[in-house]
Amino acid sequence: MIIDLKALKQKGLKTCDFEFSFSPDNRLLSLPQSSFDGDARIKGVVEVYDDEAFVSGKITYGIKTVCSRCLSPVNKSFTIDFDERFLSMTNPEPDEDCFRYLHDKIDLSNMVDELIMTDMPYAVFCKEDCKGLCPSCGKNLNDGDCGCEIL
Ligand SMILES: [Zn+2]
Ligand SMILES: [Zn+2]
Repeated sequence: MIIDLKALKQKGLKTCDFEFSFSPDNRLLSLPQSSFDGDARIKGVVEVYDDEAFVSGKITYGIKTVCSRCLSPVNKSFTIDFDERFLSMTNPEPDEDCFRYLHDKIDLSNMVDELIMTDMPYAVFCKEDCKGLCPSCGKNLNDGDCGCEIL
């Protein structure tokens, strides 16, 4: 996932669309029993200046996980909108919040990893009103009442 700014500058382009698919590292997942569901995609546009660039667009990805309440399997997909600033290493501006690049090549990997980690929910549910498991017998209460008396 590298955008070669030099090539764009040589063509005299100020902006350029880009699109990549990639397979995210499962270590980015904070949810238990989860994995990414196929490839993720990033699509966007880069705006090029002398020693800075702006990258904006969307990341879409899917995960296979389990409901945080009833533990049944769930597939979820997510879209992250992003708009990030990249500064060349040679740019002396002390901006702590932006990403840096070297030799006119923007590597999107760190940005993508960070965005996915920040976007990941703490819990996912199979449905809004999932009833979860009975704390006493462990039955999935979405399938009906288990008859346990819960104090
Ligand atoms: Zn559930
Ligand atoms: Zn029960």
